[in-house]
Amino acid sequence: MYDFVIIGGGILGMSTAMQLSETFPDRRILLLEKEPHVARHQSGRNSGVIHAGIYYPPGSLKARFCREGNRATKAFCDEHGIETRTCGKLLVATNNLELERMQGLWERTAANGLEREWLSGEALREREPAISGVGALFVPSSGIVDYTRVTRAMADTFEQRGGQIRFEQEVTGIDERPGEVVIKTRDAEYSARYLISCAGLMADRIVRMLGRHPGFIICPFRGEYFRLPEQRDGIVQHLVYPIPDPAMPFLGVHLTPMIGGGISIGPNAVLALAREGYRKRDVSLPDVARLFTHPGVWRMLADNVRPGLAELRNTFSRRRYLALVRSYCPELTLDDLQPWPAGVRAQAVSRDGRLIDDFLFVNTRRTVNVCNAPSPAATSALPIGRYIVDKVKEQVAVG
Ligand SMILES: Cc1cc2nc3c(=O)[nH]c(=O)nc-3n(C[C@H](O)[C@H](O)[C@H](O)COP(=O)(O)OP(=O)(O)OC[C@H]3O[C@@H](n4cnc5c(N)ncnc54)[C@H](O)[C@@H]3O)c2cc1C
Repeated sequence: MYDFVIIGGGILGMSTAMQLSETFPDRRILLLEKEPHVARHQSGRNSGVIHAGIYYPPGSLKARFCREGNRATKAFCDEHGIETRTCGKLLVATNNLELERMQGLWERTAANGLEREWLSGEALREREPAISGVGALFVPSSGIVDYTRVTRAMADTFEQRGGQIRFEQEVTGIDERPGEVVIKTRDAEYSARYLISCAGLMADRIVRMLGRHPGFIICPFRGEYFRLPEQRDGIVQHLVYPIPDPAMPFLGVHLTPMIGGGISIGPNAVLALAREGYRKRDVSLPDVARLFTHPGVWRMLADNVRPGLAELRNTFSRRRYLALVRSYCPELTLDDLQPWPAGVRAQAVSRDGRLIDDFLFVNTRRTVNVCNAPSPAATSALPIGRYIVDKVKEQVAVG
């Protein structure tokens, strides 16, 4: 019997495993991952931004964990010899309406305790000659990293402390009994005193396996990227983001210097027809059936007709996609959009059609389940792992 079993070899599962093994050094801990290596899904297919915590409502878990995570991620990377770059982020307003929205973000960054600077259009051009706008908000603490490397370093630390990882073990059933949890995979069965799930795109399925009605569904939103050709590598020095449209749930297509070199453009946000559907043509009939029989999905689509159609048009038209980024970086052309792999976000949607904004956990007597952990969860992985360990400690104390 294991003391703790963790489902999911993404950054949240690995952060939790690593911190559990520190808190409970003498316990048997096992992590199960269905893929052959770590960070195969969201944790290895993202923008690589160490967020500062700009957008999130003060008092939310996102605001708290992102701010703590920004510092913790940089410290963890320093300790493990992983390169990070604190290049800072510019949020660019291109018209008066966006300037008004920037004022809202200015106030929010103050409430979230962030250092920031208000730039005029001229000051923006001085810092980034290729970027044009009527003003910008500069947040110096945003940075970049390769989250796959971070996840691997967490896995190595966990294993060095005696933790076990089994790959190609897809959990297919869970039975929570008095005193233990039985976890079934396709070819094995494991017993544990406590279970933690960090299953990303499959989070709601794990809750169902526990015999609970999740009350939400994970909607997969594909984020498609391009990358700029090499000769454009120096076009920006900072992360350059648009001012988000409050009608759109995601942050908008941005220019992101990558830690390994080059600059990515993206991501957009299109409802994917397969949970792990990284190409436009990927369709999973069971995933589609579950999506379109869920009342929350229909409500979400009805409430977001305009942004939803705009995203759909952008995915099929490179010209439209380019227009999004040309609004603040006018010198880019269609030839600058070179292929780059997409990612899929796991976004929980409630039965009344709301995109659940904050991080969400569902706990039972012997389990802790991460149910909504979209961006900035990679930045926040260390404090989220710590939070989970604290929940588990409470369960262990009860016995
Ligand atoms: C396009 C995109 C851009 C993003 N950009 C950023 C960013 O710049 N900064 C930031 O902070 N965040 C960003 N995010 C968010 C961030 O990447 C995720 O929030 C984070 O990686 C979530 O980690 P996770 O461990 O929960 O999920 P995942 O990395 O998806 O890991 C879940 C794991 O569980 C495994 N699993 C699922 N079901 C089972 C099962 N039944 N049995 C066994 N294993 C199972 C999966 O195979 C997977 O490996 C972005 C996300 C996307 C998609």
